[in-house]
Amino acid sequence: MEVYLFKLKFNTPYGLRVGGPKESIDTLTALRMEGYYVIPWSSWKGIFRRATEILFASENHFKEHREEKVDNQKVEELLKARGFTLEEVMKAKNLESKSDELQRFIAMLNCPIERLYGSEYFASAVTFSDTLIDAGINLRTHAVIDRVTGGVREQHLFKEEIVDVKSVSAKVIVRDGIKEWLETLKFLSQVGTFIGGGKSRGIGYAALDLKESEYAKIDSLTGRPKFQPLSDIIKG
Ligand SMILES: [Zn+2]
Repeated sequence: MEVYLFKLKFNTPYGLRVGGPKESIDTLTALRMEGYYVIPWSSWKGIFRRATEILFASENHFKEHREEKVDNQKVEELLKARGFTLEEVMKAKNLESKSDELQRFIAMLNCPIERLYGSEYFASAVTFSDTLIDAGINLRTHAVIDRVTGGVREQHLFKEEIVDVKSVSAKVIVRDGIKEWLETLKFLSQVGTFIGGGKSRGIGYAALDLKESEYAKIDSLTGRPKFQPLSDIIKG
């Protein structure tokens, strides 16, 4: 089985804020962990999954593949690549042959989104690290605009902690769906995404830097991964 490692660098020119616990009513805090600001792996997973959905999701995907009919032929092949047979999976998950649930399972296995990010039937093929950020905070004060008069309501100011960081990195392991994964990376380099909150104020904008990011392809026979620039396999 082929496994790919990625060290992804995102440029974040306006800083970012992944929301922390509500400490006071008038301050939006940034999430902290062990003395660092943090982007949890689950935030990364959501960001990448949304991008892959924009590129590859069918209408059936958003209906959880409930109304989809898929050719069973392909499924043995897909499962074999993951080291299972259909019989083993049906037994493990209590799926009956010709049942709607089995059809749904097959449709999800056939879908690039669930194959990459997992479903209730099988694990994610992508693993993300947490990102710890060693940086300062810009405390910005915002005014709430009165919708009726259009003026600033003096009593309604709120503060927002913005992590003052110009780039962040994430480590990712990918075990399947590499074609769709690379298309997703290309999209994130060309269009970008938003990390955390404050999108309407431009905070958290992030674009993948292909030249500064790296990948390594490994298999069980070779030793240490050899990293190369991501721009070698993705043309921007
Ligand atoms: Zn799907």
